[in-house]
Amino acid sequence: IGIYTNPAHELWVSEAGPALEDVVAGRDLKEGEVYLELRCTGICGSDVHFWHDGSIGDLVVRSNHIMGYKSAGEVLAIHPSVKHLAVGDRVAVEPNIPCQKCEPCLLGRYNGCQNDIFLSSPPDNGLLRRYVKHPAMWRHKIADMSFEKGALLEPLAVALAGCQRAGLALGDPVLICGAGPIGLMNLLCAQAAGCSPLAITDLDTGRLVFAKKLVPRVRTFQVLKGKTPLECAADIIATMDGNKPRVAIECTGAESSVATAIYSVKFGGKVFKVGVGKPEMKIPFMRASTQELELVYQYRYSNMWPKAIRLVQNGVIDLDGLVTHRYNLSEGVQAFKTASDTKSGAMKVHVINDDSLE
Ligand code: NAD
Repeated sequence: IGIYTNPAHELWVSEAGPALEDVVAGRDLKEGEVYLELRCTGICGSDVHFWHDGSIGDLVVRSNHIMGYKSAGEVLAIHPSVKHLAVGDRVAVEPNIPCQKCEPCLLGRYNGCQNDIFLSSPPDNGLLRRYVKHPAMWRHKIADMSFEKGALLEPLAVALAGCQRAGLALGDPVLICGAGPIGLMNLLCAQAAGCSPLAITDLDTGRLVFAKKLVPRVRTFQVLKGKTPLECAADIIATMDGNKPRVAIECTGAESSVATAIYSVKFGGKVFKVGVGKPEMKIPFMRASTQELELVYQYRYSNMWPKAIRLVQNGVIDLDGLVTHRYNLSEGVQAFKTASDTKSGAMKVHVINDDSLE
């Protein structure tokens, strides 16, 4: 069973797939592989893009395609060569399979792998299905963490990777642009890092209310259409009691928001670009130059799961409250409709493969 799309932008749930007996017997497992029963998978904006637009950049849906890559599940079968996992272990899935041979891989920055397989990026199928076979080294044990939290480790890993490279520190004034799931994960990380004051922007008041509920000490700023980035920046700084952010973490991908971030940060500050948008953008170049700003980009993550698991297990980062909608795998079409409806109030939409998320 899996949730599919195709080049005609159709969306359906199929019952086809390996039989449970074959999975449990681990008949076709190769060295280093495990079989998982996926228990919870979050739907992401990129899944909706593959359905609606049929592509993201060079990644094009050319045949029937399974989406989803934010998952946790239970180990059903292991190849005898796998020593660090056992049948029944709960694991979170790191959805990449880097080659471990190219220069970025050898430097430990495998998010730059030139031969990467990334589950759900066409032509590789994703994880909105019942079973998957995968190299054990990209499964991370989550002990007794819920499958739901295990599935949230992927967007948390995105935020952790960015916050680590941005060098967030205690007392740093930090601005987050965009209160979608990625902005909120960055907000949780900046809160945990002791950044203060903290501000977050969005166009949508509902998303700002959500952010405030999650992190009560965040100052929220609604970006009004018609205001220039320079005007927005002045208002944001006023919202932060006159403190210019040392770091702005841009999580919208919108050109005007990148400009607002550049106008907001202090001399020598950093604009950390997580959101992705148009292939080319105009930025306030002179402002960035005269303020000696660093404009830094983040692409996915490397080496973040162990840290994400520790932070959640030890209560430093609380992922409660992010999931607004839950559907069974058989209700996959409705799950996608909710995730893509801006009026649904959805933040994270999760697809569960079982009645139990515990
Ligand atoms: P999302 O669409 O749910 O959230 C984006 C939010 O930005 C929305 O709430 C929207 O209202 C708000 N917004 C849009 N324009 C704005 C503006 N001008 N000013 C202020 N707010 C504005 O998306 P998400 O899932 O939270 O992801 C955020 C971005 O991060 C996307 O661009 C996504 O592609 C990107 N992303 C990047 C990586 C990476 O590795 N770099 C990984 C995951 C997601």
